Amino acid sequence: MFKAFRILILLGILVTVAGTTLIGRWQAQSWKRPQVVTLYPINASGDAVTDLYLERLDAAAFAGLAPYFQQEAARYGVSLSEPMRIVLGGRVRVVPPAPPRDAGPLSAISWSLRMRWWAWRSTPPSSPVPDVKLFLMYHPPDFAGALPHSIGLEKGRLGLVHLFAMKSQQAQNEVVIAHEALHTFGASDKYDRATLAPVFPEGYAAPRQEPRYPQTAAELMAGRVPVREGELRVPAGLSETLVGPATAAEIGWVK
Ligand SMILES: [Zn+2]
Repeated sequence: MFKAFRILILLGILVTVAGTTLIGRWQAQSWKRPQVVTLYPINASGDAVTDLYLERLDAAAFAGLAPYFQQEAARYGVSLSEPMRIVLGGRVRVVPPAPPRDAGPLSAISWSLRMRWWAWRSTPPSSPVPDVKLFLMYHPPDFAGALPHSIGLEKGRLGLVHLFAMKSQQAQNEVVIAHEALHTFGASDKYDRATLAPVFPEGYAAPRQEPRYPQTAAELMAGRVPVREGELRVPAGLSETLVGPATAAEIGWVK
């Protein structure tokens, strides 16, 4: 009797979790109302240069994002005048839990849970209520080496985005933000993890172009422009990227 009761409770929890995940995905991909993506700047290394940059940072640094998503969604027949509303939230002063170094599934799950708990506790209130929370981890211009890997999670609908705290980098920062934002809507990466090369054809902006190279734009979830076989470049800004049909299907722009 007691055992049956326990199983019933566990089943109830399972159904609730599965249900909220499904409802969340359905809400994220129905595109019936603007999805509020709120950006929270963080001084990742705590240095003075980044601090000064963040003090002066305003919504103008992210002004290209909403029109970009509107234009790209419209190409797939999404008629919302504002599919994504980009909101600059308050600065977060506590750094998030560091992602795991090893790639094991258990540590990934544990980090994702700690991250969601941290986000719930550390996010300052903002209006409108965010659907997606992106934490912008700013690093100083003289940061040694490559920036840590940015992460966008569909479960929990949040992301950690690593950026350079410099004005000349803002256009490229918007590309990274847009890429991680689409992960939270269910888009997958379209590049090879080892070589960073876009996967053909879905990672190409113009897969049917003849000759294939040079491409002049990047598919957003591939992130790089293939210039010729074995040579890639980083797009200068959102105007050199587009959302390809495979990504559009994953995020519900194509029904
Ligand atoms: Zn990615």
